Amino acid sequence: MSASPPDRGGRDRGTDGAGTAVRTVVCVTCGRTNRVPAAAEGSPRCGNCRAPLPWIAEAGDADFGEVAERASLPVLVDLWAAWCGPCRQVTPALEQVAEDRAGRLKLVKVDIDKSPVLARRFEVQAVPTLLVLDHGRPIARRTGAAPANALRRWVDESLPTSHGPADPASRRPS
Ligand SMILES: [Zn+2]
Repeated sequence: MSASPPDRGGRDRGTDGAGTAVRTVVCVTCGRTNRVPAAAEGSPRCGNCRAPLPWIAEAGDADFGEVAERASLPVLVDLWAAWCGPCRQVTPALEQVAEDRAGRLKLVKVDIDKSPVLARRFEVQAVPTLLVLDHGRPIARRTGAAPANALRRWVDESLPTSHGPADPASRRPS
């Protein structure tokens, strides 16, 4: 456990000993504190009550494939920069959307100044640039700040319909 590799992305949330960033999330349903890894099979659920947990992670050039492209859920990518005022408004709104859509959406934040390869790949001209990825494929994109309710609507309209909720009982027939 003492041999964790040096931090690659300036993250401050610690690692699980295998180099994967871990975030502490309090379950809104039962109050239990859970450790949620940045990358994992499936999607995170509360260890106590099994409620879906919001999945919010950070990624950079080195781990974007593992954290974002190989995620089993649709991924909302927030390409942001520390010097960008609108980004500071959008990021909390996106975190709210990720909490509201726990189990259906993963939020991955990318600091473009630390991730030049991703910034070039996604041709980021302005920040924040927001992408929705479905199995690594961009299916929606927008630029600039917006209120949380507008972002929520955009995300909902962008999500692929084939990704139903994890609970089959809530899936509508036909
Ligand atoms: Zn819980």
